[in-house]
Amino acid sequence: MSGAQIIDGKQVAQQVRGRVAEEVAALKRDHGVTPGLTVVLVGENPASQVYVRNKSRQTEAAGMVSTMHKLPAETSEADLLALVADLNEDPSVHGILVQLPLPEQIDETRVIEAISPAKDVDGFHPENVGRVATGAGGIAPCTPLGCVILAKTVQPDLTGMEAVIVGRSNIVGKPLAQLLLKENCTVTIAHSRTRDLPEVTRRADLLLAAVGRAEMVRGDWVKPGATVIDVGINRLEPQPGEEKGRLVGDVAFEEAREVASAITPVPGGVGPMTIACLLANTVNAARAINGLEPVA
Ligand code: NDP
Repeated sequence: MSGAQIIDGKQVAQQVRGRVAEEVAALKRDHGVTPGLTVVLVGENPASQVYVRNKSRQTEAAGMVSTMHKLPAETSEADLLALVADLNEDPSVHGILVQLPLPEQIDETRVIEAISPAKDVDGFHPENVGRVATGAGGIAPCTPLGCVILAKTVQPDLTGMEAVIVGRSNIVGKPLAQLLLKENCTVTIAHSRTRDLPEVTRRADLLLAAVGRAEMVRGDWVKPGATVIDVGINRLEPQPGEEKGRLVGDVAFEEAREVASAITPVPGGVGPMTIACLLANTVNAARAINGLEPVA
């Protein structure tokens, strides 16, 4: 079979952003609340700067207030914690996102734990991690949320599917497993110590790769007819004549598309979903802070 369905993350992200914009308008109209997202960027990491600029633009395009605090790379942990404490108290701020990674003099865990769980739109605070795990609400991390939305564009009901996630990070693999359990999948989490990984991935009806290794998942690791969600973003070495190397995922796309029934491309798959889900989390945070139920 050639020609798995290509899952268009850009298009799905646009739909999510459209729904968010409608919810923002409704919150303003019915409750006089304008959701506000504040991003804190410490230092000059170029990738973070691009990402943060995109977040601000899309936040404003959805009708929300976007604010940004740019702090110098030598900022102390105490100063960052003081800023987070101020933002926790600021009623115009509904979402706080401290862009990771942080410079090495700052303990990321301490900063994440200082953010009010109600405003933790990245979903990294232990209270949110626990709530998502126990099914007691909570804010789920954006990239895993995006993966589930994309999988459901192919199969709206994931119940009973054999899902294999490669990668067990706190920001992708583990929370993704929780979200897929909630969708009634049978979930396996594989990692660098997994024995005979291709054997494990070939069991998957839904295969999700979040490894950070260019094209590691080969076509013959994929079960025929599977849905493949590729979270990886890896830049290859530039080839002669290229200024920058190509971006590829953790899945060998051309091989896998011959076997899978649906697959996300890189770029244009999971990537665009992350910011869209961040905006959705911010609207839901603004709703919860104002005593309203989250929207789907
Ligand atoms: P981490 O480096 O934190 O985790 C990688 C995971 O992959 C680890 O659990 C590791 O296992 C596992 N792993 C590494 N090598 C192998 C191997 N050879 N075989 C099996 N498992 C392996 O990465 P992240 O979760 O942060 O990110 C994963 C990828 O997703 C990256 O490419 C990143 O750029 C991308 N990403 C994309 C986002 C987006 O689209 N918006 C957002 C976040 C990430 P172990 O635990 O045993 O070391």
